[in-house]
Amino acid sequence: MFDESKKLFEEAKKYIVGGVNSPVRAFKSVGIDPIFIKNAKGAYLYSEDDRQFIDYVSSFGPNILGHANNTIVNKVKAALENGFTYGACTKAEVDLAKRIVETFDSVELTRFVNSGTEAVMSAIRLARGFTQRENCLKFKGCYHGHYDGMLVGAGSGAATFGVPTSKGVIEDIAKHTLICEYNDFDAVKKIFQDYGHTIACVIVEPIAANMGVVLPKPGFLQFLRDITYQYNSLLIFDEVITGFRACYGGIQTLENIKPDLTILGKIIGGGFPLAMYGGNRDIMSLVSPEGPVYQAGTLSGNPIAVQAGIATLDMLKNTNPYNQLKLNTQILVSRTMGLANTYDIPLSENSFGSCFTFFFTENKPTNYPEVLKSNERLFKNFFLGMIKRGIYFAPSQFEANFLSTAHTKKDIEITINAAEEIFKELKDAKFIV
Ligand SMILES: *Cc1c(COP(=O)(O)O)cnc(C)c1O
Repeated sequence: MFDESKKLFEEAKKYIVGGVNSPVRAFKSVGIDPIFIKNAKGAYLYSEDDRQFIDYVSSFGPNILGHANNTIVNKVKAALENGFTYGACTKAEVDLAKRIVETFDSVELTRFVNSGTEAVMSAIRLARGFTQRENCLKFKGCYHGHYDGMLVGAGSGAATFGVPTSKGVIEDIAKHTLICEYNDFDAVKKIFQDYGHTIACVIVEPIAANMGVVLPKPGFLQFLRDITYQYNSLLIFDEVITGFRACYGGIQTLENIKPDLTILGKIIGGGFPLAMYGGNRDIMSLVSPEGPVYQAGTLSGNPIAVQAGIATLDMLKNTNPYNQLKLNTQILVSRTMGLANTYDIPLSENSFGSCFTFFFTENKPTNYPEVLKSNERLFKNFFLGMIKRGIYFAPSQFEANFLSTAHTKKDIEITINAAEEIFKELKDAKFIV
């Protein structure tokens, strides 16, 4: 079915490590070779095998307006004529920064970088510089990019200090990252009692979307805000996925909680490499050249990505598609859940705005250990059944899926019908790989 992709993957492996430029693209957990994409438009991907897919991956988040949105294409084309990068200041980067500052109450000053990873690394450095403390608290299952200090997991047993989850991350760095389960109030309280005076910052996805979607329990984010105030630690909201996903703003806008630092990426670049960290003037003024915390970037705020970002934000603001996106997502999610029930498939879901994950387990996961209870074999069957029918879900149980404004009612209907066929096959056990 995917002969051309297969051929290209063999070729890719000769020149690119693992044949991919980011690990999840290798499709390891679904047991097939990756599909090579030739082009994309609106809600659809087209593979090198000339097959069409309804795309729910959305490049893992940026494409809220669908692929190759005409307005963005035209803005970027116009920008290209003016040069791609100058290593100098531009009016456009001011325009984009102004939009973000006017939208996020917690952000007075911004700094643009090229990836979420870079923004996280810089924000944590800044938090350490500001507080003169060394430790950082993160939550299991939250992903904050691949900066050394974030490739850290819990040590064995009662150990509090983190251990590396990647070779090449040294223990001396990992031990400065403390780890708690997401939504575990008591564990956070305990860590603050023991180490509060050493904690520079708590970093959290205000809705977790990198272990699949996991929602914060009621009060959890406010609790993090309160305890970080109490101990003079900074609170960092990593809104790389959630920023501009559920409303024009972030989860902080919806929940009315002001973190000290905010990280944005994905949607704000409109599909181009652009991310940001920002916060109030007191803290941000420590960043170079204003202050002693160094951070720089050759392509930071480059005019092409910035134009794509401005075009994206302006369309989101002017068309306000959020209610419709949410409605469409709820139709897809709730009808699929109903079908799972009909065919006795253990399924739960977590969703917000236009972002959702189906978990093949009875109970809605609230943290990483609960996510891990999902039946990966059922997930794999679901994924492969969808691919066979021209529907492209994230190739891992532990990822979020996204709707865009380009997805039509018909696309959603096709997806629901495919889910029914797959669930029926699974019930009849005709399709267990
Ligand atoms: C994607 C993501 C990152 C990393 O961003 P990159 O641009 O891939 O480096 C960081 N945090 C969250 C919450 C993300 O979803």
